[in-house]
Amino acid sequence: MKNICVIGVGYVGLVTGTCFADLGNGVTCVDISEERIDNLNKGVMPIYEPGLEEMVRRNINAGRLRFTTAYAEGLKDAEFAFIAVGTPEGVDGEADLQYVRQAAITIARTMTDPLIIVNKSTVPVGTGDWVADIIRQNQPKPIPFAVVSCPEFLREGSAITDFMNPHRTVLGSLDRNAANKVADLHLPLRAPIVVTDLRTAEMIKYASNAFLATKISFINEIANICEALGADIKEVAAGMGYDARIGKQFLDAGLGYGGSCFPKDVKALAYMASVQGKHPQLLQVVMDINADQRQQVVSKVRALLDNDLNDKLIGLLGLAFKPNTDDMRDAPALEIARRLQIAGAKVRAYDPVAMGVAAKMMPNVSLAEDAYELATGCDALVVITEWNEFKHLDLRRIKQVMRGNVLVDGRNLYEPRIMHEYGFVYRGVGRGYNGK
Ligand code: NAD
Repeated sequence: MKNICVIGVGYVGLVTGTCFADLGNGVTCVDISEERIDNLNKGVMPIYEPGLEEMVRRNINAGRLRFTTAYAEGLKDAEFAFIAVGTPEGVDGEADLQYVRQAAITIARTMTDPLIIVNKSTVPVGTGDWVADIIRQNQPKPIPFAVVSCPEFLREGSAITDFMNPHRTVLGSLDRNAANKVADLHLPLRAPIVVTDLRTAEMIKYASNAFLATKISFINEIANICEALGADIKEVAAGMGYDARIGKQFLDAGLGYGGSCFPKDVKALAYMASVQGKHPQLLQVVMDINADQRQQVVSKVRALLDNDLNDKLIGLLGLAFKPNTDDMRDAPALEIARRLQIAGAKVRAYDPVAMGVAAKMMPNVSLAEDAYELATGCDALVVITEWNEFKHLDLRRIKQVMRGNVLVDGRNLYEPRIMHEYGFVYRGVGRGYNGK
């Protein structure tokens, strides 16, 4: 058992802290948000993540997991401090490091014993060295410490499973002894451990996310060509995916990538490259294709409604950037709703879990209780998120309660031929047979 402090109790920090506690460690999670910590101490989760609430409760009851706003309490007796604060997009596409900087300063001023500082946040290459400088400059008196990069690869919606079953653990440090101690913490996860230097570890995270984003933009480009030539992207992707060199994952054509990681991480990597005088052409195209996917959905709706969205009622099926999360950061729904509204449409939406978050982020969008209420009176529906509960809707009933018959499927959830039989004017993304 080790004592661990986790700083930042968001999607990554809360899952990291809870999973380390579940593995038998003593974990204190620290956040600057009093509301978040008060709620957690009352058992109210700040985020939706399958299985998390039960795991948090179990580990609190076992005395292994605590929440506080006080760094001193978190760092007391801690051998490791994991930084898991946000690194959102800055004004020019760079990663905004203000939260990392503030966390590092507070650690430096509060620590009383030697400490291994482990950076879990996704940070630009060179940030580990910068954090070490901040710690040195802000310690009232020198206390030994080491900085280790340990980027996180979990996905929202399956965060606990991903954390507990990683494909690999990446550790970067100039201090091999510290890296080995962090490696020991991860041994129960039984994944290959890659130990490298700080900068390489930081780059592995960006390169991984940029590669996955590239795969998504690639398949979307192929989907657009399929659409023009009458081929079916779902079958193309399936046929490609059997090739082990290509793999089946991340070949789903649709609205493109969104959420709190891929958009900002691809931008931040392109920014890092540009600052170094490089010309990140591929990354730029990946971002351009992604932006186009969102626009194209709106164009399809408009074209199918006689190029006039004025006073049309459009229903959005799903809001979260992907299923099983309530995360709305950079969700395609935000831009699609805005574009529809600019064109004069009224927008209504339904999402199984993201409506609380959406109500704050999309005040001009009305919210429905379920998919059937959503569809009632709509001129067109747009599938935004591929939630399981949308896969088996009573589509005849949906069609009956609508005013119109247009369904634009941004996630290729439905079969064009069947939708045509139900009487919909249906458009997926890159489907050869569109029910015409
Ligand atoms: P988040 O916004 O959900 O949580 C960040 C938390 O940090 C918030 O609760 C905030 O109050 C807290 N915080 C900010 N400044 C603080 C400070 N000085 N001291 C203590 N707490 C502070 O962020 P997230 O989605 O968990 O992402 C965290 C990092 O992990 C980011 O760098 C992100 O890119 C990376 N990451 C995220 C995911 C994901 O799926 N969300 C996956 C892998 C990596």
